[in-house]
Order: sequence, then C-alpha cells, then structure tokens
Amino acid sequence: MGAYRIAVLPGDGIGKEVTRGAIEVLQAIATRFNHQFEFQYGLIGGEAIDQKGTPLPAETLDMCRQSDAVLLGAVGGPKWDGNPPHLRPEKGLLAIRKEMNLFANLRPVKFYASLADSSPLKADIIQDVDFVIVRELTGGLYFGKPSGRRVENGEETVVDTLLYKREEMTRIITVAFELASKRKKKVTSVDKANVLESSRMWREIAEEVAKEFPDVELEHMLVDNAAMQLIRNPKQFDVIVTENMFGDILSDEASMLTGSLGMLPSASLSTTGPSLYEPIHGSAPDIAGQNKANPIATILSSAMMLRLSFGLHEEANAIERAVQQVLTSGYRTADVAKKGQRVVSTKEMVDEIKAAI
Ligand code: ATP
Ligand code: MG
Repeated sequence: MGAYRIAVLPGDGIGKEVTRGAIEVLQAIATRFNHQFEFQYGLIGGEAIDQKGTPLPAETLDMCRQSDAVLLGAVGGPKWDGNPPHLRPEKGLLAIRKEMNLFANLRPVKFYASLADSSPLKADIIQDVDFVIVRELTGGLYFGKPSGRRVENGEETVVDTLLYKREEMTRIITVAFELASKRKKKVTSVDKANVLESSRMWREIAEEVAKEFPDVELEHMLVDNAAMQLIRNPKQFDVIVTENMFGDILSDEASMLTGSLGMLPSASLSTTGPSLYEPIHGSAPDIAGQNKANPIATILSSAMMLRLSFGLHEEANAIERAVQQVLTSGYRTADVAKKGQRVVSTKEMVDEIKAAI
C-alpha cells in the first residue's frame, strides 16, 4: 500500500505544539498497523505573514491540494492584531476553506465520564452525550451578495444576503444523513422555516434526501428551540445539520457543553479534494510555547482524518481508545485538571497516549 500524504500546517501559538503531538501519535499508529504516513509542512497564518507577506502562500495551497488530507493547528496571536484586514492570520483560514471547497464542517461533541465535573451542566444531563454538528461552511449569509451599506432616501441602510443554491443544500444535508446512517440513525435538521424562505427550501430538501435513507429518522427543529434543547437535553441528538450562520452559533454553544475546549476535534470536508482536520480551539497565545496545551483535540482530529479520509477505522478507534484510557488513568493537562489531580505537560500527555497505542 502506498503512503498517505498528510499536509501539516502548524500555524501559530499552541498550533505548533499540538500538531507535533498529533504527528507523534500518527507515527505510533503507523508503526503498530504498518502504514506509511508522509508529512509535509506548510506555512499559514501569522508566521506565513511574517515570512511570505500573506496568510496563505500559494505554495502552501499547492501542497495541500496535492495531499491526501490536511492537518491544521491554529492561527493568530496578539502580534498581528493591529494588521490591516488582508494581513490578518484568520484570513488564511477563510482562504483555505474557500480555495479547497471545504463545504461541510463536522464537530463531534462527546462526553467523557472521567471529565464529568468539567461540564457546566448537571451530571445526569451531560452523561452519555454523543452527537455531531454538521455545519454548511461556504454559503449563506456570510458570502451572499449584495452586502453593504448605502444611503436610501436620506436614510442609512444596510443589507446582507442569505443565498444558497439547491445543490449546496442537498450536498450538506446528504453528508448528515450518511453520517447518521453509520451512527444512531437520527438527523435533526435545524432551520427557521416559520420565518425564512431559505429555511422552507432547506426543509423541503431535507425531506427529499430523507427518502434515500429510509432507516434514518428525520426531525425538524427551529433554531431558537435547538439553542435551548442543547442545554436542556443534549442527549436527544445524534446528527444536527444546519446552514452556515445557525451552525456557527450552535457549534460554539455545543462546544461548551462538555467544558473541555482542548478536547474537541473537527473535520472540514471538501467536494473536490482533500479534507482538513483541526482542533476547534484557537492559538491560545496565553499559554503558547509553555508545553501546557492540551493536545487531545488535535489528536482526535487526526483520528477523524484516519476514519473519514483514509477509511482506517480500526486505527481511528485505536487513537480514541488510547485517549479514553489515558483520561481514565487520571492524566490531565492543566485545562481539564481538578484540584488535587496531577497535571501533566503537553509532551507527557502525548507520550502516555502513544504508550497506550
Ligand atoms: P480564536 O479566536 O483563535 O478562536 P480565542 O481567543 O477565541 O482564539 P482560544 O485561543 O481557543 O480562543 O483560547 C481560549 C482559552 O482557552 C484560552 O485561555 C486558552 O488558553 C484556552 N485553550 C484553548 N485551547 C486550549 C488547549 N488546547 N489546551 C489548553 N487550553 C486551551
Ligand atoms: Mg474563538
């Protein structure tokens, strides 16, 4: 079997530390399962601005396009806060999503029994929570034209446009059904169909796609209710699918349920080429370079890569089991440690996970 080519974009801040950890874990997987992973490194974000004068250099994009999957750390930091808009590190992320057609953002939210008291929710509410939010990433209100201000009849007026093509809605909803068919077989489609025409079309399409997946249950939920249900009874969800802006808001809300930002992975799937995997957290400038960051979100992102991009299910399970085991044994980085628990460094956490593999 040939080598899997993985483009690694460590980025800024703790991005470097956590991607290094994930690569070591992937190397442990390669050894145990006899695979070959070939890592290539590229610049993105603040460091790319410093070295190449742009947050997403053309050579980085070329390298990613020729890879089988992309692993990203995080971008940004106070050093670049005062930069003009086109020289902000975050522009690199927006650009790579657009250039690589990363239309589907998957964020699993999973409860770890050993971290029960990190959650702001009561134990019986958060227990056994295990769902995925599927967010549309390249359309809707954030990209629709026209968008801007003008003066109309002497009044200052502003407009943003929520625009979707039928095909864009169909493909994201299909991703959700495919995912649900391999999980608990339930899709919650979130919209605002009592008010928005775009949501009424979304709902229609969800019904059409559902016909192709007779074993998956479809439920519709208004976005305001969904925001409430995530707190009231998050156990009811398996796969939540929604458009760009609703997904932006709900996925940040959902990421707080378990109280462990440093634990949550994500995948962004492409229509045309390689997909991209990254932790949901940012570059955490406050702890960067201190060997303190929790590497688990990035390590679990690499497990998603194995499963979704390479079809290596057993290998992905091995990573997830190793993480479980190390947490159960009581190892904690500072962000998830409780009083009295021994705190380990990034590197120690990575070593424990490798050993468990
Ligand atoms: P961004 O705008 O890039 O999302 P942010 O400031 O919103 O950045 P983070 O960079 O994720 O968010 O940091 C938020 C807080 O969480 C910080 O205090 C940071 O130290 C902490 N944090 C984030 N990720 C981790 C991690 N992997 N391990 C430990 N702490 C983390
Ligand atoms: Mg943030």
